[in-house]
Amino acid sequence: MSFNPSPAAERLSNAVTPAPLRTDVLVVGAGPAGLMCAREAAGRGLRVLVLEQAARPGRKLLISGGGRANFTNRRVLPLHYRCGDPAFCGPALKAFAPAVMERLVAAWGLPVEERGHGQLFLTVPARNLLHCLMEDIRARGGDILTRCAVHALRRTADGLCAETDNGPCLARAVVLAAGSPAWPQAGGSSAGFRLARACGHTLVPPFPALAPFLLPPDALPVPETPPSRSETPRTTPRRLPPAARRGLPPAARSVSDSPAASPAEDAPRSLAGISLPVRISLPEAGLPPGLTRDPVWQDDLLFTHEGLSGPAALKASLFWEPGMTVQVDFLPETSFRALLDDPQGGRRTPLSLLRKMLPQRLAETLLPPELARRRAAELSRKAREELCAAVHARRFQPSGVADFRKAEVCGGGIDVREVEPRRMESRLLPGLFLIGEMLDVTGLLGGYNLHWAWASGVAAGRAVLS
Ligand SMILES: Cc1cc2nc3c(=O)[nH]c(=O)nc-3n(C[C@H](O)[C@H](O)[C@H](O)COP(=O)(O)OP(=O)(O)OC[C@H]3O[C@@H](n4cnc5c(N)ncnc54)[C@H](O)[C@@H]3O)c2cc1C
Repeated sequence: MSFNPSPAAERLSNAVTPAPLRTDVLVVGAGPAGLMCAREAAGRGLRVLVLEQAARPGRKLLISGGGRANFTNRRVLPLHYRCGDPAFCGPALKAFAPAVMERLVAAWGLPVEERGHGQLFLTVPARNLLHCLMEDIRARGGDILTRCAVHALRRTADGLCAETDNGPCLARAVVLAAGSPAWPQAGGSSAGFRLARACGHTLVPPFPALAPFLLPPDALPVPETPPSRSETPRTTPRRLPPAARRGLPPAARSVSDSPAASPAEDAPRSLAGISLPVRISLPEAGLPPGLTRDPVWQDDLLFTHEGLSGPAALKASLFWEPGMTVQVDFLPETSFRALLDDPQGGRRTPLSLLRKMLPQRLAETLLPPELARRRAAELSRKAREELCAAVHARRFQPSGVADFRKAEVCGGGIDVREVEPRRMESRLLPGLFLIGEMLDVTGLLGGYNLHWAWASGVAAGRAVLS
């Protein structure tokens, strides 16, 4: 990707320029939020300059959705976000609906496909989307300058002055779109938080989100008996599709399907590689009923050597707090109770019934050993309830979530109570705008975070200098 900065931007990169560059709108950060904001503001005839510290814009956008950018979701609601003020993201999301983004992508001629849960992905590399966005900015007269970090901001008589790698830059308004410390391999850093805090903003403590859970080795009982030949798995644990595997730690990505682990191995390590559709929940999180009932919680779970990953676990990590348990329904579509109660299967054991539905090793691990091999017809009501709870309401106690290197996004961020929700303008420093992942607005897995980047970027782009 090459850049042809306009003469104005080139003047900025020229160390001998005597006077600082002036622009109407300075956007700090060329990620999806900053670029969308620049496109919108440049479309209003404003002079817009985007400064990007990295050599290339949009590094996270390029790797998003396994390289195919899950760029939005057909259903985007405020309840799909964790935010200090649940009402905050409503106005921006309403003003820029997923259908509008879909039309824009269609107008750019980019092919898309819908996957589960209304997720919209490109079927071409994400660099095409980045290219279209940048072309639009250029066509509207905006500039993008890379390898130019902003280090400080200060108020001036008629706007703000940014201290940059290339000297001072005077702007009538500044939009902070500098992202978060998540996924530092793609340039994630806390630089934006530092700039906002220096302007007086409060930082809600950041934490890794959409990250795998870590489980202590004794989180699951180890099956007592090794699988016998007659107990060959009837359900082959399947590999996750590329989209479902995004965000997985390298170890988990490379695990083969159901390696023949020794039963003496610690669970969940012995289950590593097994993936299956589940329904996940956080009983102690106190989530609103609208969210707990949402179909997004039914998704794939992957056992890794460290714990739980896959889309279901990544989503739950957004609302998890230390000390909480994670509850998993391993048969979300089938009633285990109905199988146990079926007179036709009275001679069968709970284990043999469950092995028809789940990988054998998982079935053995889940069921209480003293009940697993008894005839279904002989089980008391209490025993049936215990068996059903083991399968439909299995509780895990994570020791934590993986760090920012394995986190797709960062929870927490700049306190949204200090930002006007329609304009994204700072309530503390007029002329300063904050958008994207920098804010304390974090979406579930499924296109919600890119949609927030677009929606907040458009809101600021429409409001800046208006
Ligand atoms: C592996 C991975 C996959 C993902 N997949 C998806 C997906 O499919 N769908 C989805 O919705 N979300 C996805 N996300 C999340 C999504 O990519 C982010 O939420 C989104 O990129 C945030 O956009 P942003 O513009 O706010 O920040 P960023 O994309 O982080 O952009 C911020 C930019 O600011 C620059 N910058 C920082 N500080 C400075 C400074 N001081 N001066 C100048 N420039 C600076 C950075 O270099 C960066 O380019 C994924 C994330 C990861 C890590």
